[in-house]
Amino acid sequence: MIKNKNLVFLGPPGAGKGTLSEILLRDEKLVHISTGDILRAEITRGTELGKSAKALMDQGKLVPDQIVADMVAARLAQDDCAGGFILDGFPRTVKQAELLEEATAKIGRKIDKVVLFDAPYDLLIQRLTARLTCRQCKANFNKIFSKPAREGICDHCGGELYQRSDDSLETAKNRLKVYEEQTSPLIRFYTENHLLAKIDASLPKEQNYGMLLAVLNT
Ligand code: ADP
Ligand code: ZN
Repeated sequence: MIKNKNLVFLGPPGAGKGTLSEILLRDEKLVHISTGDILRAEITRGTELGKSAKALMDQGKLVPDQIVADMVAARLAQDDCAGGFILDGFPRTVKQAELLEEATAKIGRKIDKVVLFDAPYDLLIQRLTARLTCRQCKANFNKIFSKPAREGICDHCGGELYQRSDDSLETAKNRLKVYEEQTSPLIRFYTENHLLAKIDASLPKEQNYGMLLAVLNT
């Protein structure tokens, strides 16, 4: 149904971009590309890129545009992306959006839709600071809104749940500030080229998912 669609999920940290990607992937065969997940994999592997990225991520700052754009361009050029993809957490600056246009043009593809996830500040802080992430499959849970069946254990794969180091209150606040300053100008960018659709991401995830499907099917 949503096959062959090339999507961007845009919105502040904690809006549920990753969570709804996870739900959407149960129904649709799209490639999920999360720049945050790719960077955390680099950190786990202990690469040079991982080391320099970790210092920035722990302060809630962005990794340089060219670095993430190159990572994404390399991933998009792989064959499996021909059936459609979700970009989750990229682009995060206008510069990254321009680099994305170059990268997709090079491989003869384009972005079909940009979904903006919108939620109020206090809820974002609450979600981020109570978030638990699976070390293994990267699924998200939440100590308040979406508890795992067994404490500390992932419902999907049995992996260990942990709190991301950038989900502390201080870093979460910084990430939201960085979003306002550097990422929210993309709302105008994608409104001007008519790709933007907005959903209210403050509802429980199943309801948000209904809205997401409605937007993707129009
Ligand atoms: P969230 O959406 O919850 O903030 P992510 O996993 O997408 O979490 O990102 C975590 C961190 O990784 C960001 O705060 C930033 O430091 C880095 N990062 C992820 N994607 C990008 C990007 N497109 N550009 C620059 N930095 C990024
Ligand atoms: Zn898991």
